[in-house]
Amino acid sequence: MIFQGGFYAFPGGQLDLEEDARVCAARELFEEIGIRIDPTTLVEVGRWLTPAFSPRRFDTRFFLTKCPPGEEPRLVTDEHDFGEWIRPGDAVAKWMEGQILSAPPVLHALRCLAEGLEGVETRMMAVPWANGEPIPAIDMRPGIVLVPLRTPTLPPATHTNCYVVGGDEVVVIDPASPYEEEQALLDRILENQNIREIWLTHLHRDHVSGANHLKQQRGVKIAAHPITARDLEGVVTVDRTFVDGERLELRGKPGWNLRVLHTPGHARGHVCLFEEKNGSLITGDLMAGLGTIVIDPPEGHMATYFDSLKRMQALPVTALFPAHGPVMADAKAKIQQYLDHRMEREAKILAAWQRGYREPGAIVKEVYTDVQPAMHGLAERSVIAHLEKLREEGRI
Ligand SMILES: [Zn+2]
Ligand SMILES: [Zn+2]
Repeated sequence: MIFQGGFYAFPGGQLDLEEDARVCAARELFEEIGIRIDPTTLVEVGRWLTPAFSPRRFDTRFFLTKCPPGEEPRLVTDEHDFGEWIRPGDAVAKWMEGQILSAPPVLHALRCLAEGLEGVETRMMAVPWANGEPIPAIDMRPGIVLVPLRTPTLPPATHTNCYVVGGDEVVVIDPASPYEEEQALLDRILENQNIREIWLTHLHRDHVSGANHLKQQRGVKIAAHPITARDLEGVVTVDRTFVDGERLELRGKPGWNLRVLHTPGHARGHVCLFEEKNGSLITGDLMAGLGTIVIDPPEGHMATYFDSLKRMQALPVTALFPAHGPVMADAKAKIQQYLDHRMEREAKILAAWQRGYREPGAIVKEVYTDVQPAMHGLAERSVIAHLEKLREEGRI
């Protein structure tokens, strides 16, 4: 899928113009897995909206139907990488082991189905998120919960993802929002949790602005990289500083090993958090599920940014959990796309330089032809960062 590639999903698709939802579901079922059913036999079991982090807000209806006797589902399109006819309990077990990613309604459906068919419709409809209310906290992997919080961030993003990681004890990563109602929402989600520490990925205000509130509320400490601690002086008091590579083991089921990795480039004191058991990388602003990462010198440094990306790609990383936008499967390929994209830009910037362009603004007009003029100010910062890298490498 274009949206959330690498995720497990049920057969489905978009409505054709003026098409009835049941007719659509039956059509997709036939097109994707070759099963023919009577649309009137479909039972509606929920209507879900994509969470607030998403640039594309889907309004999706879910239906149950019985597989007609003698028929066996099989993948009949090349829209998907892979497909299987699997027992719901086995699919939930795969999710619990961190082998698969799925969107909240899919996981919810699998869990309900795994409990048996009796009363399944009622169970599926029993949560507010199955009735069109956006879900406030998303179980992305066992003990890795994403909470999209509205923040004054860079468009097209409108939210920053706060992550709550752990079981018996949790670490809260980037309690980001300065807004009271968003802080209250996070308070409610953390109500019955034992908070070990608050961790900050970097200094930017759209990542740290709920830290003081949470610290006061719960009497917990804030940890960040020493550079971030210094840069936040007078804004947020950091109680403990990270050592690059430090490890925190969190107990519970299935257990978590969080490693702190210094990844400068976007910000000097930037860190990523790597959960070693199933390869989840909480990326902060090293990468994003939507929009671009701004490399703005002198805080930003392009060559260091490249190094950080390469260092993360060398880890046994399976999925990326960004601060903005949805989680990305197929982590290594995604990081490669980032590197390729920047290299391509850099080659064009170098070519423009060789044609005699010297002003960053003029280079932007030559190179960023695919980017809206409103974003040209930021693109100019990136050009400056690329030129700095080219200069350091002795190429200009
Ligand atoms: Zn940032
Ligand atoms: Zn950010």
